Amino acid sequence: MYSPSIENLIKAFSKLPTVGKRTAERFVFYLLQSGKKDVAELTIALKQLIENVKSCEMCWNFTETSPCKICSDQKRNPSLLCVTTTPQDLEVLESTRQFNGRYHLLRGVVKSESQESLERTKIPQLLARIQKEPITEILLALNHNLDGEITMMYLEKKIQSINSEIKITRLARGLPMGSDLQYADEITLKSAIENRR
Ligand SMILES: [Zn+2]
Repeated sequence: MYSPSIENLIKAFSKLPTVGKRTAERFVFYLLQSGKKDVAELTIALKQLIENVKSCEMCWNFTETSPCKICSDQKRNPSLLCVTTTPQDLEVLESTRQFNGRYHLLRGVVKSESQESLERTKIPQLLARIQKEPITEILLALNHNLDGEITMMYLEKKIQSINSEIKITRLARGLPMGSDLQYADEITLKSAIENRR
């Protein structure tokens, strides 16, 4: 056993994705040896993260102002909405500069149609948006895997039942099946948006 303060921080780091106990230990001893400057930097960055970052009330991306920059950009096409899962997905789609509409982040996928499963996502907020915004096309840009497929099928059904005039599109084929959007290369993704159908 290390000292209680060391054990505590190891435990905290171990909760982070892909960080096991060994890596957490390396982080803690690095910080102890590197001196106060690195620890202070990390402390300030964490404090700013918690104090300044909130959810955009329109698209549910993380932002420091709500509505976020994208949602409040008047040059964006308000009739075009891209639905995707995570902030990283949004970032990679945005980096292609191929999409000029707005976004809606689900922050999760549908595992079943139970109310509980839906409430863990921002699907209820999406369905509310399509009833009050002038949306004519929704691009479903979810990962090409089983969860993504189930969620897209659920959304198609739901959106159609609320407003059958909304055109629902998906990214064009070319993205490998089972792959994560955020690892797709820019050219493939750019053409997948361009050739959406
Ligand atoms: Zn936003």
